[in-house]
Amino acid sequence: MPNDRLIRSVISASGISQIRCECGRWADHAVEEFLNMLGQDPDSLLRKNWMEGHVLISAFFMPSAPAVAKIMMAALAGEHDTLRREILLDSILGLSDSDSPEYLQECQSIISRGVWIFIEEASSGRSRACASYAFEILQCLEESEWVQMLQNDYSDDIPMRS
Ligand SMILES: [Zn+2]
Repeated sequence: MPNDRLIRSVISASGISQIRCECGRWADHAVEEFLNMLGQDPDSLLRKNWMEGHVLISAFFMPSAPAVAKIMMAALAGEHDTLRREILLDSILGLSDSDSPEYLQECQSIISRGVWIFIEEASSGRSRACASYAFEILQCLEESEWVQMLQNDYSDDIPMRS
């Protein structure tokens, strides 16, 4: 990872290695496996829900979700190619909404701190897939002012599903 040193620091600060994973191991195992694959074989992560059974179960967040949100945001802050950015944004989207209130507000408040990363991504015209994920994250965060602006001014760059 281009910002591996920062990611290491955030993993350590998040305390994720002391949280039990749903599969019985320590919760950092899922993030470590994800980061390895993201570095070496990002194609294998496409359309694969790597968090399922570890960080979330269906749309329910497990105790490691807020720590994972911090690590994903730290990773997203680095420079990546389009595919890796798409995978990171998809993962962050998975932590932006839940069927249950447990850990949801905590995750959303972590993700909200990067709101301008998502606004920039959605308006950049670089990648329709990344723009779409970023736009959906903003919708989950209920950033209605910016959702509205993007709908008005950037509808050509963002595949709107709604
Ligand atoms: Zn696990």
